Amino acid sequence: MCGFCSDKKPREGQAQPEHRRQDDRIDSAEDAQAESGGALMADHVFTEEERGWMRQAMAQARQAYALGEVPVGAVIVDAQGNVVSAGYNRTIIDHDPTAHAEIVALREAARLMGNYRLPGLRLFVTLEPCAMCLGAMLHARLREIVFAAPDPKTGSCGGLIDLSSNTRLNHQTGIRSGLLADECSEMLRRFFRERRQQAKGAADPAER
Ligand SMILES: [Zn+2]
Repeated sequence: MCGFCSDKKPREGQAQPEHRRQDDRIDSAEDAQAESGGALMADHVFTEEERGWMRQAMAQARQAYALGEVPVGAVIVDAQGNVVSAGYNRTIIDHDPTAHAEIVALREAARLMGNYRLPGLRLFVTLEPCAMCLGAMLHARLREIVFAAPDPKTGSCGGLIDLSSNTRLNHQTGIRSGLLADECSEMLRRFFRERRQQAKGAADPAER
């Protein structure tokens, strides 16, 4: 568990508003990038194989990007190193608030394995999981979660709250973070920068 994940206290000034907008995930990820500034923890040692899996998760994120979805991607890998499933954020196109990359990949892996439990499998995702996704991953009994960029607004592995290290959970899933974080952060930053430019252009047609 890295220092980031073991930080159980939410950071100051990050209290959740009573009424959050529909695009919380978007705001959250954007703010995460702004706050992290790309200076992310790198105290874990990752293998080249693990980098390859995170790069596959990034390829998934790029598919979301191309569809106008917040670019988050995930892959699930078995104990032999085979990629079992992959997914990308598709909440808008699916009209589904649960269609985060991790949930999409989990559903596909469970379908392929014919089991709602996925012991021994590992999930690689480009952004820190939210509480919904972490809850689903704990239910699935995943062996480990590796995420790239932190999310201080909805992250559940220490970014906002730390559900992952609660020792009262009946299943403990390992968490590591920071793998290819700069690249994943840059993709998110670029996405939101373009969105802002598009929104500005739409608000002021004369500037197009
Ligand atoms: Zn999520």
